[in-house]
Amino acid sequence: MADIPVKYEGLFHVINTAVFERRLLDELCSLATRVRAVAKTRAGARSLQELGSNKRAMLYFTQPSTRTFLSFNNACHLLGIRTSEIRDPSTSSEVKGESFEDAIRTFSSYVDIIIMRSRESGRAASAAQLMDTIKRPVPIINAGSGSDQHPTQALLDIYTLDRSFLERGGIDGKVIGMMGDLKRGRTVRSLCYLMKCYTSVHLVFIAPPDFAMQDDIKKFLKKQRISFIESDELEEVLPELDALYVTRMQSEWDQRGESKDIDLSKYTFGKEQLDTLKPDAIVMHPLPRGSEIEPLVDSDPRAMYWRQERNGMWMRVAVLIKLLGLEESLYKLSPVVND
Ligand code: ASP
Repeated sequence: MADIPVKYEGLFHVINTAVFERRLLDELCSLATRVRAVAKTRAGARSLQELGSNKRAMLYFTQPSTRTFLSFNNACHLLGIRTSEIRDPSTSSEVKGESFEDAIRTFSSYVDIIIMRSRESGRAASAAQLMDTIKRPVPIINAGSGSDQHPTQALLDIYTLDRSFLERGGIDGKVIGMMGDLKRGRTVRSLCYLMKCYTSVHLVFIAPPDFAMQDDIKKFLKKQRISFIESDELEEVLPELDALYVTRMQSEWDQRGESKDIDLSKYTFGKEQLDTLKPDAIVMHPLPRGSEIEPLVDSDPRAMYWRQERNGMWMRVAVLIKLLGLEESLYKLSPVVND
């Protein structure tokens, strides 16, 4: 079939976006688009449910989550994958003193894939390392680890950017602004790594000085020759942007309420900013939002965050398909054309 993308081998865990390559991103975007087209009919939805009907997934979310949990849960169900969950660590044997490693190993005895979110950075990476040492390893998906990485959010962000710029040459060459708490926002950190897969992207970081993008990411961007500038004046840079990715203050990481001291009015997107934004630019947000995007923006066609949220489910189906090796079976199903 003409629209089958080049197959990317070698993906087992999804932990850190720094290791992703363009071919894989293109393949995941094609898989997501294919799934949404197949899911449009009742027959298609039924056959999708057959794809994963012999698989089981564990959702191990010990840090709060609405979208990521629900979209993974629904992504599993779209594929007929049965799910188990632990969302409250007080209900797991970890309270009896069981180690994290033993808990993960136990989950892996019952399921085919573990999707996990933790407050601690590096937890999913440790789980993946553990899997690589045992006899029946299962893939680990990092659904958010501390303030460090949120790879599947970055993948759905890429899917949203890719779809939005479909008629304008894709993501290559675009000017992408990232605004808000860039220091502690794991979504923007993960997204920055993926920028290495595109050519001539220019990044504009807009943040209060105390919440600027961290040096490790800036070093990475320099090494990859990805151009970026930093500003704390949205007004000055807004007219140049093709996309503005707004984020909230990550106040859950405050030591002494420091985010409360920031005048956020400069980092807020409302009517005035809509008037300055290019007519074909887009506004994104990983959600949940605070006051950084005014609700009146929601009805503007350039507001992409609600579509971005739904794209998350399709992209997470694509990730599950890829990790469980179901791509070929998916491409045998007939989609509704002209998605
Ligand atoms: N939902 C995203 C995350 O889990 C963004 C946020 O919480 O600000 O990181």
